Amino acid sequence: MREAYLNIDMKRFDVVIIGAGLAGLQCAKLLSQKGAKILLVDRKTDLAKGIHTTGIFVRKTLEDFDFPEGTLGKPIKNVTLYSPKLKEIRLESEKEEFRVGKMGLIYDEFLQDAVAEGVRFARGTSYKNAEMKDGETIVNLEKKGEAYSVIAKVLIGADGANSRVAKDLKLDENKEWIVGYEEVFHSKTSDKEPRLHCFLDAKLAPGYLAWIADDGEEIHVGVGGYAADFNPREALKCFRQKTENVFDFNELELAETRGGRIPVGGVLRKIANENGILIGDAAGAVSPLTAGGLDPAMRLSKYAAEIVWERLQSENPKILLNYSGELFRARFVSRLWMRKIIKTFTNQRLLELGFAFLRGRIGQKFAKHVFFGRGSFPDIESRQSTVISYQKSEI
Ligand SMILES: Cc1cc2nc3c(=O)[nH]c(=O)nc-3n(C[C@H](O)[C@H](O)[C@H](O)COP(=O)(O)OP(=O)(O)OC[C@H]3O[C@@H](n4cnc5c(N)ncnc54)[C@H](O)[C@@H]3O)c2cc1C
Repeated sequence: MREAYLNIDMKRFDVVIIGAGLAGLQCAKLLSQKGAKILLVDRKTDLAKGIHTTGIFVRKTLEDFDFPEGTLGKPIKNVTLYSPKLKEIRLESEKEEFRVGKMGLIYDEFLQDAVAEGVRFARGTSYKNAEMKDGETIVNLEKKGEAYSVIAKVLIGADGANSRVAKDLKLDENKEWIVGYEEVFHSKTSDKEPRLHCFLDAKLAPGYLAWIADDGEEIHVGVGGYAADFNPREALKCFRQKTENVFDFNELELAETRGGRIPVGGVLRKIANENGILIGDAAGAVSPLTAGGLDPAMRLSKYAAEIVWERLQSENPKILLNYSGELFRARFVSRLWMRKIIKTFTNQRLLELGFAFLRGRIGQKFAKHVFFGRGSFPDIESRQSTVISYQKSEI
């Protein structure tokens, strides 16, 4: 590792955030609104390229956060759930339950807002490593083969499921994930009723789901499952063959493919030390049951911004220790158990049996709760967290 020594020419920031996904952008915007001097770093030159998420936002996120006009697809009220033998359960809701985000636009708009608040954005810049020195953190970066360093009071890892910042800060790292892979098509007919189709299939989506999210504008066709048990690209091909009698893919125009890891082990325990914190996927902030990470990315970033701001105001680095994954894990116990149970459904017959249960009265209630429940990542006020570990005498 190249040693960087504190150098008076190095630029100093209150906060350096690695990763301009939803978590990093949201945190950068909120912290700069409070007055912090922020450097946001992403290896991408264009945030609208190389998107890895389907971008389905749930009702509670849409109710609690503002999205710029024109960045969301049409509302989706209904879900069809399919068994391995393509038996159906149709779940109908009165409410607008989901909307597929036009993620390229969302990232660009969020970035513009953050830059307007004063955030400096280093695009096309890779995070290499960090060194803790004299109570500050030297963050080593590289742009087009040129290495340079900056100094941060707080380093924030928003660098996704396989976080390098987590490693360098010696914080917890994600150990359990599923992989998702999808094709995105532009719809040629916009008169179809928007609907989310979810398929249970132990071979094509082991431990998770295959999906077709069709809001009449974009159609996302994807598979997700434990990486050790399937080949996502092959599975997607087979999934399209399996559903070709139900959906005519030939009429559609392929726009892009997306894919990546989704951590499903629950929020990590140790997500902060005196030098920095983790947010979003880097912190494991994804629902272990639904594998939804967009709502947690928004909410955890909001909470993180409050704690980091407190730390900047007081100049006491120990305040960051209040930001603990333990605050959230208790709320995920049932979802972690559900994940363990889902993992045991390793063959089609078992899944077909499970599906038969879902068709019953209690099963349908349960399915509606999973798809339409108002559950979200817990909101925690920064004041609540001060019951944990922070003692002024330690300063
Ligand atoms: C196929 C798929 C479909 C999904 N669908 C949904 C869905 O429909 N709804 C939902 O709620 N969740 C979904 N998820 C999960 C959700 O997308 C993630 O939880 C969420 O996007 C995480 O946001 P993030 O900002 O933490 O991380 P990311 O979006 O991964 O952002 C990390 C950023 O860090 C940058 N970066 C990484 N390393 C470095 C480095 N060394 N130097 C500089 N920059 C770096 C990357 O370029 C990236 O921009 C899906 C995930 C996948 C893989």
